[in-house]
Amino acid sequence: MEIQELIGIVKEHGVAGAGGAGFPTYAKLDKRAEAILLNCAECEPLLKVHRQLLEKYAYEIMETFALIGEVLEAKRTIIAVKEAYKGTVEALQANRHSYPKIEVKLLPEVYPMGDEVVLIHETLGITIPPGGLPIQKGVAVFNVETIFNIHKALKNNGPVNAKYLTIAGEVTAPKTVLAPVGMEVREVIQAAGGITVKSPVFIMGGPMTGRVVSSYDCVTKTTNAILVLDRNHKLVQRMLSDVSVDMKRAMSVCCQCEMCTDLCPRNLLGHPITPHLFMRSATSGVGAVHQDLSPFLHTFYCCSCGICELYACPQDLSPRRLITQYKNGLRGKGVTPDKEVKYKEPLSLREYRKVPMERLTARIGLTEYNQEAPLVDTLLQTNQVKIKLAQHIGVKAVAKVKKGDTVIFGSKIAEAADDKLSLPIHSSINGEVIEITEDYIIIRNSNERM
Ligand code: SF4
Ligand code: SF4
Repeated sequence: MEIQELIGIVKEHGVAGAGGAGFPTYAKLDKRAEAILLNCAECEPLLKVHRQLLEKYAYEIMETFALIGEVLEAKRTIIAVKEAYKGTVEALQANRHSYPKIEVKLLPEVYPMGDEVVLIHETLGITIPPGGLPIQKGVAVFNVETIFNIHKALKNNGPVNAKYLTIAGEVTAPKTVLAPVGMEVREVIQAAGGITVKSPVFIMGGPMTGRVVSSYDCVTKTTNAILVLDRNHKLVQRMLSDVSVDMKRAMSVCCQCEMCTDLCPRNLLGHPITPHLFMRSATSGVGAVHQDLSPFLHTFYCCSCGICELYACPQDLSPRRLITQYKNGLRGKGVTPDKEVKYKEPLSLREYRKVPMERLTARIGLTEYNQEAPLVDTLLQTNQVKIKLAQHIGVKAVAKVKKGDTVIFGSKIAEAADDKLSLPIHSSINGEVIEITEDYIIIRNSNERM
């Protein structure tokens, strides 16, 4: 297969990174990639999608990944998986004879191993420059469900209009399910037997990087998990707290112990992000500390992993939230990261400062929820979906249907924006378009068989 044909299929089927920011996958299919990595680190507590998919569909995913390696003419094709995912590792070993060129790299059970920059360093020993992209160093990283979606696209099993996600926390029976894109959170969690607390709060994504959402919020192509926790859980209290209170607390009790910087995974790789210096400058006011703006400008190199605030800080402060607020403020004023910023060699102490998953899970109060969440592959059913037009990085899709149109499962309802980094969107149910706005399309089920 030629690369342009593969790019065309992947784009037409709306394949975006199935997690994280949802980078349109066709844009990663680049012959500069000398090494391609399959990311099965899946490092946030309670999430299980990628390891389960790779265990169940090892052959299909390896077949597709090997094909991508051939099309890109990559020198190395590597599956990076945590050693702790025993069933997944066994499934890979059982299929390795079919794909002898695929290497398997076993990773330690630490967080944030799934961060692309950390993963690349751990697997290949290469450091991606601060603010840079893996392709600059000849690497492309794909996650497991993304490759599974390419597999389905190549086998004519349709476009991306459903998402695997783990339902965990305060639910009767945690599960990993396949939900139509656009299905409401409150409906999805019924698949896990319902909620077990009176005051539930819903977190979309993992406990480290997810966000609190309403029960009416909807599944997108990047939703990896829905966690249900009690409103009084400390993680929820942290997520719901006011950032202005975070700043006042930082002003009063940050003792400059540097633990946040000592354990920051990007700082440990030599990147110029120093959360303790940011906290010092932010709480003292710009100009009060040597007129040095670098702690603010270096916020661009934070990956928002949350180690500083959910694990490292002995004072329970929130460097990550404050850093994110500053970073967004700078972007809003048109400031962009310096791509030529200097960085150092990874710290020799890095190996001893990795954060074990078990301790992290305990520290954020989730040990009791770290249970089995079996994968159930049957597509959940719903009568209505609200499908967002921006589900990926880049320019949002442009609706091509109008109110009153009848659409079918898998039909294209929005086109990729012309000549931009963008993807089309497809219907996840049969039904009638009942509402279109600039941000979403609502489809009501016509009760035909999907
Ligand atoms: S770990 Fe907490 S107290 Fe220590 S320097 Fe960082 S923010 Fe301040
Ligand atoms: S969230 Fe904190 S620990 Fe993580 S990269 Fe940013 S500053 Fe470092």
